[in-house]
Amino acid sequence: MKNIVFIAQHGTGKGTQCELLKEKYQLDHLSTGDLIRDAIKKQDEFGKSLENTINQGKLVSDDIILEMIKNYIQNHKNTNGIIFDGFPRNLNQAKCLDKLLNDMYLKLDKVFYLEISKEEALKRTLGRLTCPNCKKSYNKNYNNLKPKQDGICDECGSKLVSRSDDNEEAFNNLYDVFINETKPILNYYENNGVLKTIDASLDKDEIFKNIEKVI
Ligand SMILES: [Zn+2]
Repeated sequence: MKNIVFIAQHGTGKGTQCELLKEKYQLDHLSTGDLIRDAIKKQDEFGKSLENTINQGKLVSDDIILEMIKNYIQNHKNTNGIIFDGFPRNLNQAKCLDKLLNDMYLKLDKVFYLEISKEEALKRTLGRLTCPNCKKSYNKNYNNLKPKQDGICDECGSKLVSRSDDNEEAFNNLYDVFINETKPILNYYENNGVLKTIDASLDKDEIFKNIEKVI
C-alpha cells in the first residue's frame, strides 16, 4: 500500500500528475477540492457555507476537511493506496493527517513537492479549460495544450469551461496562503524523511518519469 501526498501551489499541473499516478498504480485519488466541489453541488446548508468560503478565496477549516478525509478512508479500506491532493496545506494539517493515519494503522510513504515559479503557475492557471462532459483538460495559453477549435472539446465537441476560482485575484490569495502556510510543512516532511522535490516546469511526461523514479 502506498499513501502519497502532493504539495504544489495552484497551477502546477498537480491534478494531471495525480491522474497519471492513479491510473498506473491503481491508487485512489483523494482530492479535497473534488470532495468540496461535490459537497457544494448538493446545495444543502453545508454545501452553501462551503461555497461562500471558496468564493471569498478562503480555505475550508481543518476540522471539516479532516472529517471528510476520515470518511473517505473508511470507505476505501481495500485500496492499493491513496493519493492526497490538496491536503495538508499547513503544518497543523500535516500533523493531524499523520495522527489520523497512525490511528488507522496507516502511514505516508512519499510526499512530492512540485516546484514552479509564480509567473508560470499564474499563466497555467489562467489558461486552464476543462470539458464538463468527458473531463479532458486543455490550456489555451500553451500551443501544445490548446483545443483545435477555440473553446470546444477535441474529443466530444462540448463547450469548454474554466473553473470559477481560476482568476488572478483568487490565484494571488491562494499563492500568499501557500507561501505562508504550506511551505513550512516541507521542512516537517523533510525531517520525517519522506519529502521529494520535483521540478514542475518540465512537461507532464518528464515530471511523471521523475516521480516514478522515486516510487
Ligand atoms: Zn469532451
